[in-house]
Amino acid sequence: MKKEFKEMLKERGRTEMPNVLLVSAECAPLSKTGGLADVVGTLPKALKKLGIDARVITPYHRCIKNKYADQVEHMFHFYSRLGWRNAYVGLEKLELDGVTIYLIDNEQYFGDKIYRGGNAEGEQYSFFCRAVLDVLPNLDFQVDVCHCNDWHTAIMPMLAHTQYRGWMQDKVKYLLTIHNIKFQGQYGFEFVQDLLEIDRSYYISDYLEQDGCANYMKAGCVFADRINTVSPSYAWEIKTPEYSEGLEGILNARSAQLTGIINGIDTKVFNPYRDPVLPARYDRGHLKGKAVCKAALQEQMGLQVRPDVPIFAMVTRMTAQKGFDLVACVLDDLMSREDMQFMLLGSGEERFENFMRGAESRYRGRVCSYIGYNEDLAHLVYAGSDFFLMPSRFEPCGLSQMIAMRYGSIPIVRETGGLRDTVTPYNRFTGEGNGFSFANFDAWEMRDTIRNALGCYHNEEIMHGLINHAMQTNFSFDLSAEEYARHYIWML
Ligand code: ADP
Repeated sequence: MKKEFKEMLKERGRTEMPNVLLVSAECAPLSKTGGLADVVGTLPKALKKLGIDARVITPYHRCIKNKYADQVEHMFHFYSRLGWRNAYVGLEKLELDGVTIYLIDNEQYFGDKIYRGGNAEGEQYSFFCRAVLDVLPNLDFQVDVCHCNDWHTAIMPMLAHTQYRGWMQDKVKYLLTIHNIKFQGQYGFEFVQDLLEIDRSYYISDYLEQDGCANYMKAGCVFADRINTVSPSYAWEIKTPEYSEGLEGILNARSAQLTGIINGIDTKVFNPYRDPVLPARYDRGHLKGKAVCKAALQEQMGLQVRPDVPIFAMVTRMTAQKGFDLVACVLDDLMSREDMQFMLLGSGEERFENFMRGAESRYRGRVCSYIGYNEDLAHLVYAGSDFFLMPSRFEPCGLSQMIAMRYGSIPIVRETGGLRDTVTPYNRFTGEGNGFSFANFDAWEMRDTIRNALGCYHNEEIMHGLINHAMQTNFSFDLSAEEYARHYIWML
């Protein structure tokens, strides 16, 4: 164990690292719709290296049942009270890659989609929180810290401290990680009361109420022992009205317990030297393979096969968050003036998808898109592109820019949230930097930054330096895990 952790534990009269239970709506590779699943799937493995027994508890979704049913072990089952309902709770256990995962089984709530939307989703995850709290004292694992993630599990600390007073659930410490503050779990109070029997005295703006709704994320921010977000810049941003989605009051009040811990990526999965889906492998000392990947990408996507022209790429959900409106605003200007190629892999809002289809037909052989989700192609795009564009309106952490850098694709990002914390802009006087960035959410500022990058592309020395810096930046999860370990110990 690290000396620092030993001393921290000694101050708290302990010798053992805390036991941690990560509570989450999704967990990779079992169930995944976004970055949350990756974090919950990777963090326990990194914590294990630090001597922390971290386990996961997550719903036994249909997609998990379909794939892993023959590997799970049934532990026990009972019935939980969900308002007037008597709801079945099955506890199953699965060992995966050395991590113990507990699965809450209930066919009615988890037999279909991971997120059902609307009130059905509120009921799904109110049940999940109730079931986890009821399961806690009966686990074959003594939990010191419950690590809740996003609004789906954010109501747990409030329930523990108000409805389980004096019980072990009340004594456990709660960390709430905010992966995206845009989604808060807002429902009518009567609906929530009917499910969770919350006393009406808590329906005030000091606790649960926000803008006339019961707000799960807010309750989490009030009652959790500590709060963190997934980058230091986002932790600062969500205390301002521009980014807080209405929660700046409580987050400023809890400022002393609010920090930012940047996510990492799975450097084994994202490794251009070993990636099995690439037509050629490479590392920062031997970039020939990257040129092969570029040619393969151009060929596969119907772009002109030209090694001398830079490819600007995006792999993204096409939503307002990701800043695609900026791209739509200046793509014609760029394509008509510059010798460049642009490619996009993603799906999302129809207006953006249609824009891409139009641009593709206007600039055949120079612009292309793949509308849909394709992980293998994503790897080839990271490997084959020269620049990776991420002009986000807000970005809690962002994984794509880190993956791009690992594959030597130079990121061009807006300075917000995790993008600000992971991309150091190129400095032409010192040669430092691993990407390009611009400050304001402004299409013309983005265009000028792209043109600046284009200027650098034809200078071999500059590009070599940039690729070198990008590829050697450390994005392993081990650094994040150490920071989480400190947080867990602080809470003891
Ligand atoms: P998000 O806000 O969507 O979680 P991140 O940058 O944190 O954004 O993570 C997105 C992840 O999803 C990255 O690993 C990226 O490669 C992947 N991804 C996004 N869109 C697609 C797609 N259309 N096909 C394949 N992978 C995708």
